[in-house]
Amino acid sequence: MSIHDRDEVYIGGSWRRSAGGVIEVESAITGAVMGRVPDSTPHEVADAVAAARAAFPAWSQTTVDHRLQYLTLLAKKVDERNDELTRLISCEVGTPLRVSTAVQVGLPRRVLESYRDLMYRFELQERIGDSLVLREPIGVVAAITAWNYPLQQVLGKVAAALATGCTVVLKPSEVAPLSAFVVADIIDEIGLPPGVFNLVSGRGDTVGEELVAHPDVDMVTFTGSTAAGRRIGEVAARTVKRVALELGGKSANIILDDADLAQAVKVGVANCFTNTGQTCTALTRMLVPRTQLTQVEDLVRARLATYTLGDPLDPSTTMGPLASAAQRDRVRDYIRVGIAEGADLIYGGLDEPTDVPTGFFVTPTAFSNVRQDMRIAREEIFGPVLSILPYDTEDDAVEIANDTEYGLAGAVWSADHDRALRIARRMRTGAVDINGSYFNMLAPFGGYKQSGNGRELGLYGLLEFYELKSVQGAPVES
Ligand code: NAD
Repeated sequence: MSIHDRDEVYIGGSWRRSAGGVIEVESAITGAVMGRVPDSTPHEVADAVAAARAAFPAWSQTTVDHRLQYLTLLAKKVDERNDELTRLISCEVGTPLRVSTAVQVGLPRRVLESYRDLMYRFELQERIGDSLVLREPIGVVAAITAWNYPLQQVLGKVAAALATGCTVVLKPSEVAPLSAFVVADIIDEIGLPPGVFNLVSGRGDTVGEELVAHPDVDMVTFTGSTAAGRRIGEVAARTVKRVALELGGKSANIILDDADLAQAVKVGVANCFTNTGQTCTALTRMLVPRTQLTQVEDLVRARLATYTLGDPLDPSTTMGPLASAAQRDRVRDYIRVGIAEGADLIYGGLDEPTDVPTGFFVTPTAFSNVRQDMRIAREEIFGPVLSILPYDTEDDAVEIANDTEYGLAGAVWSADHDRALRIARRMRTGAVDINGSYFNMLAPFGGYKQSGNGRELGLYGLLEFYELKSVQGAPVES
């Protein structure tokens, strides 16, 4: 495997050799170094913000048509580099190739297209009485992203910012930064005006926080952990900048007593274990009627036995490794916690998987008879671990589902759609899927409570990037 050495940052329309340190990127598959990126200096961060600031007046005045042409070019170039991006992310994150193609690269590609189409339908001004109300781009946006779906987060944020007339400084995750460098290559090739997009890389508590604190950054759009989100909220408050936070989750999958159990478990397990459980919306708490617990345990065991662990680049693999050694250790620690807390380990556990490469593998694991006061039911594990919680009444199920600091996603299963919708309405969470319905990338995506305060995707995602201005006494256009 060739090593992806990137020693430059992208500032003001050109690549510049970084004067900072080096961050090594490890392959999830083997643990070996697969790339290096700069740990940018404070000076580089300041220059990137200054370049974005300088580019904003002209870029924000361009027409929607003009800006969308760049999104079209960006989408075309992503298509051309589809295979390279897919493999790169599979190696960095551990996602099996098939999922990588559809979700890691396919989804962001479609999101790009959706923003392009939505912008053409967007009303940027409206009359409210005597006032003309204008939507204007907010300014310089710092985009800070996590590693689990790296391209989705980068393109989702960058495309929305560019489409709405904002300029951007991107700081991707230090764990999986390489696809962001490909995006910067593409942006350089398509000739976006200098300073409209800038890329710095590095650690969160230094490079990330310098961006958040910078007085010339108008908005931070952030995807990552709730702990980092809290810190970003505090630091951003000093300069009263807007923050759109997309944070962690501990989502509940409520299976009602009249549900199609086999289907509910099949889809619920697939959801929880996709991307080796490294998904913010993963349905990690399966809530089942106590009377059906044994049946559900059998079904869960049978589903987990179908996974083939291995090299994500091998087409027969259905579950890859975790993204990093730190993530593997964290997940194994939580499995130890679950055992110590007295939950029933019904599948997997601490045994090392055999016949897999030397990377960061963990056996898919399920606990049953989990109580809501256990840490494995309350804390985000972010790995292939399912907690099954029995409940007695429908009200108990809703109470357990809502008894969490998080509120990102959820699901309900019932043969009675009205009953399912009644439960969905009672769940304090940003999304609920009834009977395994599909992800809708035009619907707003984001969290209640400590899962965040922003919305991405669709019209609501674009709205985050605007200020509102009320102009009184403006002439009425005929
Ligand atoms: P993380 O919070 O450790 O890091 C995310 C990003 O924030 C990285 O780029 C990191 O360098 C940066 N960062 C960290 N501390 C910072 C600080 N003080 N100031 C500025 N930047 C800082 O998260 P992670 O481990 O990369 O990702 C996993 C987390 O992301 C999980 O909690 C997951 O649920 C969450 N996530 C949420 C969504 C969503 O849309 N809600 C999507 C994907 C992942």
